[in-house]
Amino acid sequence: MRYFSTRDTLKKNAFSLKECAFRGLAPDGGLFMPESIPQADMNEVQRLADISFADMASYLASLFFGEEIEKELLDSLVRKAFNFPCPLVKIGDNDYALELFHGPTSAFKDFGARFMGGMLGLLKKQETEEKLFVLTATSGDTGSAVAAGFHNVAGIDVVVLYPNGKVSNLQESQMTTLGGNIHPIRVNGTFDDCQSLVKQLFNDSVFRENCKVTSANSINILRWIPQSFYYFYGWCQWHQQTGLSHPDITIPSGNYGNATAGLLASQMGLPVNRFIVASNANDVVPKYLVSGSYEPKTSIHTIANAMDVGAPSNFERMTYLFQNDFNLISSSIQGFSSEDKEIREAIRNLYEKFGYISDPHSACGWNAAQYYQAQGFRLCTAHAAKFHEVIEDTIGVKPPVPETLKRAMQKEKHFTSLPNDVQILKDFILSLQ
Ligand SMILES: *Cc1c(COP(=O)(O)O)cnc(C)c1O
Repeated sequence: MRYFSTRDTLKKNAFSLKECAFRGLAPDGGLFMPESIPQADMNEVQRLADISFADMASYLASLFFGEEIEKELLDSLVRKAFNFPCPLVKIGDNDYALELFHGPTSAFKDFGARFMGGMLGLLKKQETEEKLFVLTATSGDTGSAVAAGFHNVAGIDVVVLYPNGKVSNLQESQMTTLGGNIHPIRVNGTFDDCQSLVKQLFNDSVFRENCKVTSANSINILRWIPQSFYYFYGWCQWHQQTGLSHPDITIPSGNYGNATAGLLASQMGLPVNRFIVASNANDVVPKYLVSGSYEPKTSIHTIANAMDVGAPSNFERMTYLFQNDFNLISSSIQGFSSEDKEIREAIRNLYEKFGYISDPHSACGWNAAQYYQAQGFRLCTAHAAKFHEVIEDTIGVKPPVPETLKRAMQKEKHFTSLPNDVQILKDFILSLQ
């Protein structure tokens, strides 16, 4: 499979999978996209999903990566990456939750990060020489998922930038207690500052000559593509439970990697009625879906902090997938935003009516699905225990803590504090070589 930048409309410069994986962002600043979108056979998807998520994912992965990676290697990578459950849970009438948070860091980002960790390890093996740096900015959950997904992958060092005081204590613990090839950096600034630092380094050709870097943010094709797989799995379970076949799918969104992976799934042949994207107060995309004008902003801090993004990186993928046709975009996707107060109300409602403890991000999804009277399922992106402060404060109940989270909390944190300064960051990374 060849890949092209979203900005290379004439398709002049083709890239290989390895080039995309190691570069993260295309040289012209765009995002990589596969040359063509492979079509999935839904009968085969259903047959395999009946066996397991991994069996189904292995088939879907082979559609994209079958030319570059041997079948057995890819299959064992998929089984290793997706070794946790992904259940569709019925919560209320017409409310089905696809729980994507049963992986090691209790957030959906484990899917993309673990797959990417495995793939990058394989692609790196085919090379020798210098270290490869995975550089990533996080508003909370990316950092922990990437750190866990890449921990101890040979030949690769991970540098994670996170905003000081804007991630939860637990998220910080998850990123800063692994050690080894994982280097967490606490930046005095916002998430957008962190993301901008990463972008500056990627656009700095001199720096890149001295240091091989790639990104593990959801812009990286290796994190983005596997996120389309669980949409198929959610569909199969929903279809089995309801007998219906065109769901509304609701997605709590920040950088819109998850949502655009859903669009990818639908273009691969997954039957979907409509997508509903749910934001917190950072409502750039819901506003765009109504007005047609895209106005990125500085991010606002909310209680659903993994979605505190004012300038979503994957927006360009969204418009690209629809050839920039706003009518088509706005008829396929609807948006809804929740203020903190409304997120808390949703958490309270879900608990009081159904005894279900929801994390704040998934609660945004619930609000959106309610608003549009959605008939389908919604993606639940994090375990409530990751945001226990908000939950306790809202419903007075402590969510049960998964074992992996308990373990991270008990370890000592190690991180480097840096100012929002690109030169200092460069020097730090060069010193790790
Ligand atoms: C990252 C994250 C999101 C947002 O996902 P995007 O792909 O950035 O839109 C939502 N919820 C949780 C818990 C997250 O960690």
